[in-house]
Amino acid sequence: MVQEQLVNRGIKDPQVLQAMGKVPRHLFVESALADRAHDDEPLPIGERQTISQPYMVALMTEAAELRGEQKVLEVGTGSGYQTAILAGLCLNVFSIEKIHALAVKARAVLDGLSYYNVAIHIGDGTLGWSEHAPFDAILVTAGTPELPRPLIGQLASGGRLIIPLGDERSQVLKRFRRTASGLEEEGLGDCRFVKLLGRYGWPD
Ligand code: SAH
Repeated sequence: MVQEQLVNRGIKDPQVLQAMGKVPRHLFVESALADRAHDDEPLPIGERQTISQPYMVALMTEAAELRGEQKVLEVGTGSGYQTAILAGLCLNVFSIEKIHALAVKARAVLDGLSYYNVAIHIGDGTLGWSEHAPFDAILVTAGTPELPRPLIGQLASGGRLIIPLGDERSQVLKRFRRTASGLEEEGLGDCRFVKLLGRYGWPD
């Protein structure tokens, strides 16, 4: 998976590649799908949601430019797989999931793997998590037409916000960087995510 799907497509950060090689992805999917866990595609995780394709997880993580001491917000815990990758690369991960059953399942898998630097909140992630802001990086793992305003406010100076923006069928993965002069925007490629449902996303 790491060589064929990630290195061959241009993922370079050695720490990201190492994390992707280490976290047991099969534990984040239902046991009936375990033999497909490393396939080059998203897979269903119940509740009509999906675990992201390995390449997309690596691309978003690399774009976040994490360094050990940093604090990250993830919107859309889902299976918890992206959460685990992030947890190995920074100090603390704060992750928000709106579907209770998914949050509970992800928590159990992450506890089983001893990821004690992850906090999960059940609620609307488009509001962010102001008690723990500002964040060095914010990853949104669901698509929305517009940038959720509260997330911009919770980004640290120099912080990176990685988010798929677009309509229901296709989005562009964007990176926004907070600089002294405002927000710098960069496109990282086309993608297709499930909908971000919430106050500053698609209507729920
Ligand atoms: N990173 C996850 C992706 C899961 S799919 C993984 O690889 O497993 C996106 C997730 O975002 C879904 O679980 C969905 O329930 C969640 N979601 C959608 N809108 C949300 C919102 N406003 N706040 C928090 N989570 C949300």
